[in-house]
Order: sequence, then C-alpha cells, then structure tokens
Amino acid sequence: MKTLLAAFAALAFAAPAAEAAPDLRLRFDPCGGPVLRIGSPRFAVEFGGRCKPVHHHRYRTVCEREWVPPLFQTCLVGYDACRRPIYRQVLVRDGYWRTVEYRVCDCGHRTRC
Ligand SMILES: [Zn+2]
Repeated sequence: MKTLLAAFAALAFAAPAAEAAPDLRLRFDPCGGPVLRIGSPRFAVEFGGRCKPVHHHRYRTVCEREWVPPLFQTCLVGYDACRRPIYRQVLVRDGYWRTVEYRVCDCGHRTRC
C-alpha cells in the first residue's frame, strides 16, 4: 500500500512545474470519514472515506433448466375385508424439466423473470 501511495503521489507531482503546485487536501465524506486527496489539476487520487459506493444492479438474462419433482397424493384406494379404508400414495403428476429465465447481476442478486 505504501508503494502504491508513493507511485500515485509521484504521478500526481510529475506535472510540469509551470502548470501548478501539488495538491494535498483533506476533507470528510458525507458519512464522516476522512478522505485524503493527492494530485494535481491533471491527475488526482483519493484515499479513505467511510461511504461505500452505490451499487446499481446490471442484469443479464440467464436460462436454466429446473427439475419439477413428481407430485404424490395420499388417496383412498379401497377397503379391506374388515371394511377399513386402505390409503396409498398415488402419482398425480410426473416430474418434468422446465426452462426458467432469471435476471442475474454480477453481485449475485437474481430474480425470476
Ligand atoms: Zn448487483
């Protein structure tokens, strides 16, 4: 980090002497965190601050296959010799694959179309 800071400072101060003096400013961001600005009128770098950059989702559409499980239901299928009901699991609908579209952002947020 120290090397990176030195490199940026060298870049900022590399402007011709006739152009302007190096600029070193300290300010506070809207969240109250100190922000150090190093630069010249041509190039500047800021360090610090507490505010996180605002993320705007950029979605792309992705199609995925999704398995819909079979549907079973308990049904009365008859009576035994003592007239007691006999229940069994009966397949009501077969399982199947379907294609679903999602809107996916690089941050991992996804919504169904
Ligand atoms: Zn996002």
